[in-house]
Amino acid sequence: MQLFTHLPGSTALVLDSPHSGVFYPPDFRHTCETSILRKAEDTHVEKLYDFAPGLGAHWIEAHFPRSYLDANRNTTELDVSLLDGPWPDPVATDPVVLSKVRLGKGLIWRTTDDGLPIYGRSLSVQEVKHRIEHCWTPYHAAVAEAIDAAHAGHGYSLHLNCHSMPAIASSHATNFPGEKHADFVVGDRDASTANPVLSQRICAHLTALGYRVAYNHPYKGVELVRRYSDPAAQRHSIQLEINRRLYMNEETLELTAGFEPLKAHLQSLVEMLLKTDPRQL
Ligand SMILES: [Zn+2]
Repeated sequence: MQLFTHLPGSTALVLDSPHSGVFYPPDFRHTCETSILRKAEDTHVEKLYDFAPGLGAHWIEAHFPRSYLDANRNTTELDVSLLDGPWPDPVATDPVVLSKVRLGKGLIWRTTDDGLPIYGRSLSVQEVKHRIEHCWTPYHAAVAEAIDAAHAGHGYSLHLNCHSMPAIASSHATNFPGEKHADFVVGDRDASTANPVLSQRICAHLTALGYRVAYNHPYKGVELVRRYSDPAAQRHSIQLEINRRLYMNEETLELTAGFEPLKAHLQSLVEMLLKTDPRQL
């Protein structure tokens, strides 16, 4: 099984979906039930954007599940209490990062969104290294390569980091448990990963379509928008969270009648971005 897909594009637009993977590798060896782990997936996000490669966007998609390795974390965001031996590489000391690791949501998750332990065992240093080497490193290399190619070809890059979120935040998912989410959350880490005028255009486009849109709350964007963005150099990265109740049943994971109209709206958003040159903003 291939662990990710990278379809090179021809435009300045790069889309990536790090959390929609549904292939659970045999060496995962988790204790909690797969049906519970599956609630952490951004299930079907890759289907919502399946028109994008046809429009010339670069596309990167993880097939491994987020609960196996979260590609939207730095490799330093490791919960060393999971390990059966000393970790040889540097780990983060930043308090914001540590609060996420303490929630069980580092690079390798310790608990589900409801706080349930994922493993009944310690993980070996070697198996964590294996996950980084086979999932994190190639995924990040693909995103970096796509953004570099977009920027080299057009003088700017627009990177949309594609996610979905539950209708209501779970107890261990964020620092805002129980929060009722908007339809969309647009995140640019408080205007540090993209020109905020561009972020506001996305908010305005979705608002005009009738959606409730939040900006940088409760999700600002994490490692994938942080790591490859440089707005001053015309490298813009924005995270887009979609409320799952717009397109799926969160219990059965089945698509609902909302899927097609939502996808049409996302296509209109992507078409707007394809016509937007951030150097003119
Ligand atoms: Zn996500």
